[in-house]
Amino acid sequence: MHDTAQTMKITGARFPGRYIQATGLIARLGVETKSLGTKGFAILDCALAEMLEIEMTAGAGDDIALSFHTHGGECSEEEVEKLTALAKDGEIDVVIGAGGGKALDTAKVVAHNMGVPIVIIPTIAASDAPCSALAVVYRTDGTVAYDLFLPRNPDLVLVDTAIVAKAPARYLAAGIGDALATFYEAESSRIAEAPNCWGTYGSPLAFEIARYCRDVIFADGAQALADCDNDNASPALERVVEANILLSGAGFESGGVAGAHAIHHGLCELDDVHHHLHGEKVAIGVLAMLLIHGQQEEYERVRDFCTSVRLPTDLSGVGITDLTEDKLARVAERACKPGDIMHNEPVKVTPDMVAEALRKLA
Ligand SMILES: [Zn+2]
Repeated sequence: MHDTAQTMKITGARFPGRYIQATGLIARLGVETKSLGTKGFAILDCALAEMLEIEMTAGAGDDIALSFHTHGGECSEEEVEKLTALAKDGEIDVVIGAGGGKALDTAKVVAHNMGVPIVIIPTIAASDAPCSALAVVYRTDGTVAYDLFLPRNPDLVLVDTAIVAKAPARYLAAGIGDALATFYEAESSRIAEAPNCWGTYGSPLAFEIARYCRDVIFADGAQALADCDNDNASPALERVVEANILLSGAGFESGGVAGAHAIHHGLCELDDVHHHLHGEKVAIGVLAMLLIHGQQEEYERVRDFCTSVRLPTDLSGVGITDLTEDKLARVAERACKPGDIMHNEPVKVTPDMVAEALRKLA
């Protein structure tokens, strides 16, 4: 199918079934969900389980019945199996995941296993994962086991910006880092005529979304972070949350991924970066790719933007303080893994080129 899609050059875009966002929206959980199911199996992020159970119980009202299950913290096969078994024991017709990326990804897989719709309630805007049909499954030691490509995007993504505004601003900044990559990677994929991770080519709409995503974070990113510091779901924060979650999600999934995430994957080879968030490492990947492409002016613009939205601009910002040749080689080799996403760049990028760019960011 992959080959046929490329021969025919099928273009397209994919989105969640419905995306809704407002301050206090969790109060309408039942009203918004009941058309999908009325017996909900709720998977709650362990860090926020108590608050979520109270808010979701109130929001469910008389429209839906909920059973609550606290997520173990990792999106692993063990966690998925445990929760799927519990879901099979109950009488349920919809799965609702609430929390950060790992709880949400677990909920996506459980819903898929059960053959029921999935409602996603992100409590942070730290990455563009909530809208996608992709789940990243981890091993129990925290390393990535595999990417699971699900047949459908979430049926409903419900974002309560009052909850997102109360989360630490660092998460919002990381989401801006992930959203920053969306335009540059979609643009690389477009120029290289590389397909997205579903084997189809981004439609013109996908590239417009990616461009608009970048415009929003550049215009409103700094203000949104200042408002997040004050737990204020301001208009700027509303726009940036939409950019981080919806625009970045549709932009990357339809437009394609490339060098910035390739370098992220390379950086993750080092234990040094494990306390840093996905989007923080992706921002370093964007900066390194601009250096590799020789786009000095754009590099300086993006570097200054990163500073303004509290994203790292050098390797010490993601925990790498002593950059040895051995570390550089490991990162560069992984970033340029044969057949992987670095090959979606319009020029051939070698490990030497990655190493040279990272030296400049040391
Ligand atoms: Zn990402």
